[in-house]
Amino acid sequence: MRVLESWIVDTRIMLLLLLGLLSLLPVRASAADLALEGAWRAAEAGEVAASVGRDDPRLQRFDPARKQGFGSGEHGSWVLLWPAQGHWPQVPWMLEVKAPGLQTFTWYPPGAAPRHAQLMQADETGWPAHGRLAFLVHTAPADGEPLRLHIEARGVIPTSVTFTVRTIADYLRGDARWLVLATACLAVMAAMALMALVFGVRLRDPTFLYYALFVLAYAVILGLQTGYAVEPLGWSASVAQVRTWGGLATTVSVVFAILFQDRFTELRRHAPGGRRLLFAYAAVIVLLLTLRLLPIESVDAFARAAINPLLVLGGPLLLAMGVLAAWRGSRHALFFLIGWTPLLVTTVLGSLQSGGFAPGWTWSEEAMLGTGALEALVLSLGLADRSLALRRDRDRARELADIDALTGLLNRRAWIERVYLLNEAMSQSGQPLSVLFLDLDHFKDLNDRHGHEAGDEALRTLAAAMREELREQDLIGRYGGEEFVIALPGADRVHALRVADRIRRRLHERSAAGPLRIAQTASIGAATQQAGEDVTALLKRADEAMYAAKGAGRDRVVHAGSPDGEQMA
Ligand code: GH3
Ligand code: MG
Ligand code: MG
Repeated sequence: MRVLESWIVDTRIMLLLLLGLLSLLPVRASAADLALEGAWRAAEAGEVAASVGRDDPRLQRFDPARKQGFGSGEHGSWVLLWPAQGHWPQVPWMLEVKAPGLQTFTWYPPGAAPRHAQLMQADETGWPAHGRLAFLVHTAPADGEPLRLHIEARGVIPTSVTFTVRTIADYLRGDARWLVLATACLAVMAAMALMALVFGVRLRDPTFLYYALFVLAYAVILGLQTGYAVEPLGWSASVAQVRTWGGLATTVSVVFAILFQDRFTELRRHAPGGRRLLFAYAAVIVLLLTLRLLPIESVDAFARAAINPLLVLGGPLLLAMGVLAAWRGSRHALFFLIGWTPLLVTTVLGSLQSGGFAPGWTWSEEAMLGTGALEALVLSLGLADRSLALRRDRDRARELADIDALTGLLNRRAWIERVYLLNEAMSQSGQPLSVLFLDLDHFKDLNDRHGHEAGDEALRTLAAAMREELREQDLIGRYGGEEFVIALPGADRVHALRVADRIRRRLHERSAAGPLRIAQTASIGAATQQAGEDVTALLKRADEAMYAAKGAGRDRVVHAGSPDGEQMA
């Protein structure tokens, strides 16, 4: 268990995890793909596809193998694609559009009806396509003729895409690989979230619930963004529904990420100012979302315009708070940073890509899935670490509650609790049980003459004398002021008397050698359990025997067993 605990907190494990997940990501174009060249321009009202030729001076060239955005012009955009060298390959083959977002793509096959494709409209006659759109090309354009596509991005966020022409076999392989990766990553997120839900309910710790809701909402966002919700999950939805659900999921993920971070990285303690800022931010997000639900068009438009830039701010804001909390000593903030940073980097870079940034990074969607799963794993490790830490604190508190601070012995309550358990074990195994009751002699005098500090020292000396003379299994407790109790499992009358007398002598020796050079004495009562006697009665007899020892002149042991009290002095 100890080994496991230290493993969980070992950051090296997390770095390995990070590398492992990153190795899942290289989803590069296959060398067998046809090298393409491309050109595009904004479309104008009333144009037909056939009228756009390669010699059109308004066309801008682009590399179809790199991420390219086509804006959101009112009439959409035209895209032409042709082989970089030589001819179109032997049909049939696939034209694949990666990461199309919610944009609609229309292909104009030569001499046939146009084909439309959109991520949210699963095309039952089309090919299986996951996180991409696919057109099966039966009739290649004539030599020198381009493939003509139209892209429509009205009312949706234009994303940057790549185009690939490949064999059907290569296409299916790539598609299946993506599906495996996306399924694995989303399954990791779902599994971690469900586990956190169970733990949250069992441990009654809302931190786990916040985390679960955040991860689930994030998985929903990825499922919508990549089209996974539609294909393979089979959700049929309009673009408007997708946007509503996407907005809701984003808001839920941001709000619960904040609530989670607050508790997990202990912002109240480590960054109270930042905490207030985060909460104000979350309140604004919730307010804007509420406004969006009102059936007033102008209010909705305002809220929609305001919420997106704010949501983009959320990630970096959380990251900044994580850095602050880590800087000020929150251990769990480190988990948060290790999990959160890759996710944030891929999300921010991914959104910058539609502005033309890092076009060569064609696997940004896969990276978002991978870093989402990584984050779920790392934060689950962090939560495991958190519950271990909480359990350790609780055990420590329980231990401290059982211990007398001055002597380090069990206090009265803890001693009684334990002696009952011991009594049960002894009766079951049929072994004897003896109890000693000790009281320092003339302790008041010592306090009065030499001060309270000397009195405390004498109590510690007696505690040390008892420890030295007793076995591991004997229970020593401080019963009150200068009264102590000892339970001796397996000890009969003779044994109890012998042990008590050893303690008495040891106390002499130790105190005489102490700084005051005063031989301290104690009166000790001993009692051995009789058939059917309970702990309370046994203890009472030991107490009475101790008083008998006082009465007989102190500094002695009296056993309660014999009629006149057996004495050792
Ligand atoms: P006797 O021989 O009859 O037992 O006499 P005594 O003076 O030891 O008996 P008594 O019970 O009257 O005195 C107990 C004293 O122990 C009273 C109290 O001031 C002192 N005492 C109780 N707890 C502590 C403690 O934690 N530290 C110190 N220094 N003194 C304590
Ligand atoms: Mg006393
Ligand atoms: Mg006393």
